[in-house]
Amino acid sequence: ERERLKRLLHVPARTLDGVGVTLHANIELPEEAEAALAAGAAGVGLFRSEFLFMGRRDLPGEDEQYEAYRTAVLGMRGAPVTIRTLDVGADKTLDGAEGQVSLNPALGQRAIRYCLAEPEMFSVQLRAILRASAHGTVRLLIPMLAHHHEIEQTLRLLDIARAHLRGRGQAFDERMAVGGMIEVPAAALSAGLFVRRLDFLSIGTNDLIQYTLAIDRADHTVASLYDPFHPAVLRLISMAIRAGRRAGKPVSVCGEMAGDHTATRLLLGMGLDTFSMHPASLLRVKQQVLLSDVSQLAIKVGRMLNSDDPVRVRAALARLREEPG
Ligand code: PEP
Ligand code: MG
Repeated sequence: ERERLKRLLHVPARTLDGVGVTLHANIELPEEAEAALAAGAAGVGLFRSEFLFMGRRDLPGEDEQYEAYRTAVLGMRGAPVTIRTLDVGADKTLDGAEGQVSLNPALGQRAIRYCLAEPEMFSVQLRAILRASAHGTVRLLIPMLAHHHEIEQTLRLLDIARAHLRGRGQAFDERMAVGGMIEVPAAALSAGLFVRRLDFLSIGTNDLIQYTLAIDRADHTVASLYDPFHPAVLRLISMAIRAGRRAGKPVSVCGEMAGDHTATRLLLGMGLDTFSMHPASLLRVKQQVLLSDVSQLAIKVGRMLNSDDPVRVRAALARLREEPG
């Protein structure tokens, strides 16, 4: 089986009906970029920048961040690298951070909320990411969006960061793409509005499931209720994909669901064409892509999404996984 999968490494990820699918890797350290490329990733769809900030009491400076991001960019040799801005709070705490601990950290000041509350710290990261964009194809990704004004504020800070770098005479990619994560139900429901100000969307199913079902990702007592295939979750994912497609903007899924080969055909049927996952899952997902006919899947998945009955949805999903095409 492993040998069979290995043979798929250089096979293009294309469906039976000729739809090209992009398979990206999720990484957490800049040094992982090269391995991701070797594992068959066409780019990095999610570089979690938290690693730079965690397990220390001080904050990484602009040069330190720039060097880390550049390492990832050079490691991908021209392939795109999607750098997500700092996503701390909830399960990822910053050691040096002072201030009040939220009673419900997952609903508190995490990710983009934290960054916008600390604009100086955030601007250091934005400048570092912009500078790394001079060395390859960098895409910036904003986590945990819930409000349109969070996009506006981030874009304003980015404009200031660009002006700052111009003043210093430092190079960056003027056309660096800026995307947003769909991880909160409000964002999935507002995806059509959000995408007007963004270049791409990336669906973070881990958090989208958590927030849709009100299940703490880290709480074992409710783990059995954490259901990626809950009809409400599937509808929100599908809604975000459609909003992106209607606007002609790329949409990917970068949560665990993208690397779950039992969900590949479902996501293809929803119209998804970019998947970002742990590099170890790439070939198994590609194997599913090669066996799939998107036009057929779209009909079956469309029918499935009309039902809000979890038992029917489960049965339809099982059929989807077993039937050819
Ligand atoms: C997600 O929420 O699906 C995601 C990719 O982000 P993280 O797992 O880092 O919260
Ligand atoms: Mg997340």
